[in-house]
Amino acid sequence: MRSTLEATSVKIEAGASLQDSIWTDAKRPSPVELLAGDAHNYALFLDCDGTLLDIAPTPNEVRVPGGLVELLVRLSKGLGGALAVLTGRRLAEIDVLLAPAKLIGAGVHGAEIRTVNAGAIARVASALPNSLVEEVVRRTQRLPGIIAEPKGPGLAVHYRLAPHLKEALESELRSLLTQYADGLVLCPGRKLFEIIPAGHSKGTALETFCALPEFAGRRPIMIGDDMGDIAAFAAAWRLGGVGMRVAGEHFGHTNVELQNPKRVIAWLTSLAARLDE
Ligand SMILES: [Mg+2]
Repeated sequence: MRSTLEATSVKIEAGASLQDSIWTDAKRPSPVELLAGDAHNYALFLDCDGTLLDIAPTPNEVRVPGGLVELLVRLSKGLGGALAVLTGRRLAEIDVLLAPAKLIGAGVHGAEIRTVNAGAIARVASALPNSLVEEVVRRTQRLPGIIAEPKGPGLAVHYRLAPHLKEALESELRSLLTQYADGLVLCPGRKLFEIIPAGHSKGTALETFCALPEFAGRRPIMIGDDMGDIAAFAAAWRLGGVGMRVAGEHFGHTNVELQNPKRVIAWLTSLAARLDE
């Protein structure tokens, strides 16, 4: 047991793989066990797409379920403000989706951060070089079904509408990134690749939040569905917390804690009820 715990204390960057074997029971209590625990002492970290929201053919087509925003606001209050959204999207986009709430959170895999509900968004990494963004957009325009989505410090390239182009796209992007030394990394996700600044991840964001007064001393609970969430799972474990995986293209449908966003929302609803007790 001890060696397993030590092994997972190694920093896991966004995009790293994570073997099922290191998901010990201590790091993945069942959703029911967590509800029976000391809920008032939790800090909640939530991915959005694929976790709270069903994946859509394109990012603009996602639908926000009725009542979700109210639920998140209620949870944030019930947890004394210890709730943060950790997303690959820009926080400004999340604000539109979750209006009128402007939740504490990190966008573009930790490259943007908001540390106070309704507070300003701070960019903690510089914007990607224009030349790179322009080159990616230029090259992907030649590939039908590929959507390049510039987002300030990051750039997502979606291939959900053209999955057969995955390999060609990845080698194209990797060859472009060789010009940028170690400053940028390519993070694979659910039917997309993201170019993000090295040194930032949902894990670094989770650690930043856990040092804030609202979060400090609480047990971090991270819920996510994709590669980019792995760094946050690892950060939650390092801080004595747990992770819950949501089924999907990345984690599959066996050996996960929550089967879909609907189940995530049902679990969050039960948690909110516990916090009202
Ligand atoms: Mg996701």
